[in-house]
Formats: sequence, C-alpha cells, structure tokens
Amino acid sequence: MEHVQVVILGGGPAGYTAALYCARAGFRTVILEKLSAGGQMATTAQIDNYPGFDEGVDGFELGMKMQAQAERFGAETYLEEVLSVDLTAVPKKIVTDSRELTADAVILATGASARKLGVPEEDSLVGRGVAYCATCDGMFYKGKTVAVIGGGNTAAADALFLSRICEKVILIHRRDTLRADRVYLNPLQSCDNLEFIWNSTVDAILHDQKVTGLRLRDKFSGELQEIACDGVFVAVGQLPNTALFEGQLDLDHGYIAADETTKTSLPGVFAIGDVRTKALRQVITAASDGAVASHFVEEYLASL
Ligand code: NAP
Repeated sequence: MEHVQVVILGGGPAGYTAALYCARAGFRTVILEKLSAGGQMATTAQIDNYPGFDEGVDGFELGMKMQAQAERFGAETYLEEVLSVDLTAVPKKIVTDSRELTADAVILATGASARKLGVPEEDSLVGRGVAYCATCDGMFYKGKTVAVIGGGNTAAADALFLSRICEKVILIHRRDTLRADRVYLNPLQSCDNLEFIWNSTVDAILHDQKVTGLRLRDKFSGELQEIACDGVFVAVGQLPNTALFEGQLDLDHGYIAADETTKTSLPGVFAIGDVRTKALRQVITAASDGAVASHFVEEYLASL
C-alpha cells in the first residue's frame, strides 16, 4: 500500500489549488480525479468572473492550466475513481479502482452534481432531449428551440449561452424573479430570442422518441399549459458529492460541515470548494479554499 502525505479527492479549481500549495510546500501530494481536470468548471464555456483573464476564459482550458501548474511543482494526478475511504483510520485509507493508498491528511474537493427535476421519464430521456450541461450539449440544439429550467446563475448563464446557438430559448422559473446575480439581468432581457415563463414548474416532459415539449403548471392557478421544444436544459441547483463520506464526518444539509478554516469534524480531514458549507460557490472561492486548506494541512502535519 502506497503512503502519501496529502491526498486530494477531486480535481476541480479547489482541488488543484490545494495541490499547487501543498506541492509547493514540499508535501508529496496526490490528486484523485474520476474524469478530467476542472470539475464542474470544465463544463462552462466562458468564465468572466475569475481575475486575470480580461477576455474571459474557457473553463476546460482553465482546468487544464490549473492541473499543469500544480504538476509543475510535483503534484501527481491519478485519473481513478475512488471507491471507498476510511477517514477515521490513522493513517487515512483510500481505495480506488486501481490502488490502495494511505494518507496523513485528506482534502475533500469532490464538488457537486446537477440536481434532477424529479419528473417521470426524466432519466430515460437524457441524451434524447434532456440535458444538464449547456456547454456540453448545446451544439446538438443549433437552430432549434430549447427550454431552460431554473432561476439561478447556472440557468441564467445557460440561457445566454444557448441563445447564441438556438433559434429560441424559453427560460422557465418557479417564481417571478431570478435568483441569479444582477449581472445577468440586462443581457437576458435584451436577448431577442429569449422568452421568460414565470411562476411555473414542469409537470411532465412530452416526447415521442425524443423530447417534443413540456407540460407546465402555473404555481398559483394550477392551470396547465403545453409548450413545444426540442430540448430541455435542467439547471435547478446542485447536490454535493458526499456519498463516500456519509456517516464518517458531520454534514449540514448534505454539505460537509467546515468553516473558513476548511477543517471538518475529523482531524486531518479538510473540505474545500462546492462540497463545503459556504455562502458563495464560485471558482474563486473554491480556489481560495484550496489555499486556506494547505495552510491548515501544514499545521496538522507539523503536529503529527
Ligand atoms: P442555485 O443557485 O441553487 O439555483 C437553483 C435554481 O433552481 C433556483 O432558482 C431554484 O428556484 C430553482 N429550483 C430548484 N429546484 C427546483 C425544482 N425542483 N423545479 C424548478 N426549479 C427549481 O443553483 P445554480 O444556479 O446551479 O448555482 C449553484 C452555485 O453555483 C451557486 O452558488 C451559484 O452562484 C454558482 N454558480 C455561479 C456562476 C457564476 O458566478 N457565473 C455560474 C453558475 C453557478 P428558487 O430560486 O425558487 O429557489
């Protein structure tokens, strides 16, 4: 069994910033990532709120750069799926699909995944009109009509992105105001091919072989209406990826309970990025968490 000083679960902006700082501090640092660098950030085509990129930056490209930067200082990436962890053991144990590791400190940076609408046949229509990532799947709907469900930053960014590809975008929200940051409002309102439907939830996804439309329910009157669309992009929030840790450390509404120190309820275990309880989930706050965690990892390792 291989022993490593610091193991980081997840290679998004939080994980790779922690890796950069830990590797630069001289610790042997391993990042375990299931897919590729960047996490959810990699599915965002244009990031305009991360400083240093005056023209914005593609999230996938930024993820690759973060990986390369951490690896320049000796961080190692294993593209493997983590199957189980024992965070209470000393040292901590991690089993992937390819190896078993022990670690003095573990940083959890597993992020969050898209929440589903929870309507019948949603799962079986994925890839046949139902999608959760506009930048990944938007091009399949070039020149077509799509609906975006949700009222947060993801829904707003997805609707803007899709309005540049699709003939028409219908943004459907369950309230009469968006939760999204104000910065999105003007661009959304000045989009000629974007229509809003307020106070409505999705009752059913209409389809033959593929999605053909949606049946919507008015929140106040209960009235049903059907709209035609070729695709539906679900952007109704995130669910933290904590299944591997349940029962081992404290969670708060599903997120790993940790304050700004990133320390969890277990010594030597730190939580960073979108998986941690926090007020603002952004690339920059994820990166910030990574830097902070390395400080407290160093303190913890010195105490061993
Ligand atoms: P979010 O902020 O939690 O918003 C989810 C939206 O979906 C809300 O408007 C919510 O309605 C709605 N919703 C939830 N469940 C629903 C359901 N079953 N049916 C219909 N609507 C439902 O999630 P997010 O937009 O994915 O953002 C997640 C985090 O990433 C946030 O912290 C966000 O700031 C961050 N993010 C930032 C950027 C950026 O800065 N550019 C871009 C993307 C994401 P209510 O409003 O009524 O609750």
